Amino acid sequence: MSVVKDTGRRALIPPFGAEHEELRATIRRWVEDEILPEQEEWERRREFPRELFNRAAELGFLGLRYPESLGGQGGDEVHDAVWAEEVAATGMCGGVGAGLGAHTGIATPPIFKFGTDDHHERFLRPAIAGEKVAALGITEPGGGSDVASIRTRAERVGGGWVVNGSKTFITNGVRADFLVCAVRTTSDGGHHGISFLVLESDMPGYEVSRKLEKLGWHSSDTGEISFTDVEVPEENLLGEEHEGFKLIMANFQWERLLMALGAVGTMDWCLRRTVSYALEREAFGRKLGRFQAVRHKVAEMSVDLEAGRAMTYSALRLLASGRDALREVTAAKLFTQRAAVRAADEALQVHGGYGYMREYEVERVLRDARLGPIGGGTDEIMKEILGRGLGL
Ligand SMILES: Cc1cc2nc3c(=O)[nH]c(=O)nc-3n(C[C@H](O)[C@H](O)[C@H](O)COP(=O)(O)OP(=O)(O)OC[C@H]3O[C@@H](n4cnc5c(N)ncnc54)[C@H](O)[C@@H]3O)c2cc1C
Repeated sequence: MSVVKDTGRRALIPPFGAEHEELRATIRRWVEDEILPEQEEWERRREFPRELFNRAAELGFLGLRYPESLGGQGGDEVHDAVWAEEVAATGMCGGVGAGLGAHTGIATPPIFKFGTDDHHERFLRPAIAGEKVAALGITEPGGGSDVASIRTRAERVGGGWVVNGSKTFITNGVRADFLVCAVRTTSDGGHHGISFLVLESDMPGYEVSRKLEKLGWHSSDTGEISFTDVEVPEENLLGEEHEGFKLIMANFQWERLLMALGAVGTMDWCLRRTVSYALEREAFGRKLGRFQAVRHKVAEMSVDLEAGRAMTYSALRLLASGRDALREVTAAKLFTQRAAVRAADEALQVHGGYGYMREYEVERVLRDARLGPIGGGTDEIMKEILGRGLGL
């Protein structure tokens, strides 16, 4: 099944310019040539090949926003935004997007922003080169939404820390070479006393306890990791000791915006795929698109897409210009994640029984999209942030 209709995405909408559209085209070609033909097999195997990190690095995709002096492309957040939206718009499976995205979008940005020159050399440079795989470890078995309740404990010993605890639902968690990990460094609870340590997977006591089976994102490895008396040297502290909550909050803004961009890409794919199908498939001697019910469904999908895109691009413009965008990013994340699930569900309905079949891909897109209202902060938490921001 080909996807024929363009939904207006090609119009140059700020902050995107001609250079970004070229990048879009390059990403699209790569995904179409090298990912789409293979991804079903990777989904079945529950893992995409490790070499994909090397290939993505070779094409510059792992360092779009990082300086050339570290092996990056010298771009900025807007280049990364193009990546997040475009991979989803191609229909690339969420697992590959999640694995590469966790590496570039959530695990390496804190190393770049809060790291020392030594961190840049030891972790960021090899990550940009695809030589080391990165993961971010915040969520614990005891809770994800309540990030202040982190229990993984780092006890001060001479020259470093000893870490005990566990993390769960960690994207790239099975094969990550290093984990940007939130730990508790004081015995008081709450926001104060959280720090970030870079844990390396070859440190004694660092163990991947389980690879998790999931509803979607099948080709990404999602791991549970345990730490037993892991000795971490002083130089692996990222940012200020006890001030890790700030790092979590800074990172969330970008993660949520990337998720919104991905959802916009997903909605775009769903709309184009549905229109294509409605133009081809017949029922009762007519093309599906001749039925008012189908046209209206598609019209509603297009409104969700435009609304989601407008909110997300507006938040991106604010964030990329260095301004506070908490409200805008939160609203865009909240709206787009549910809208993408709706779009995938409607696409499946228009496809009828074929939508339920693996080969038509819509069922995978629906399964992959379902994480959106949960990951990176749930819908309920987004509503809390928005409600409190309004003074309630
Ligand atoms: C496939 C996958 C990949 C992931 N990748 C990573 C990763 O790479 N790194 C990482 O650190 N984490 C990762 N996560 C974790 C993800 O961010 C958490 O699942 C998410 O933050 C929710 O936390 P939780 O699952 O513990 O749910 P809980 O916090 O237990 O929430 C359960 C329910 O209670 C609701 N709830 C909780 N508190 C409130 C409240 N105050 N008000 C109203 N409702 C509330 C929630 O909205 C939700 O509906 C991943 C998760 C998945 C499933």
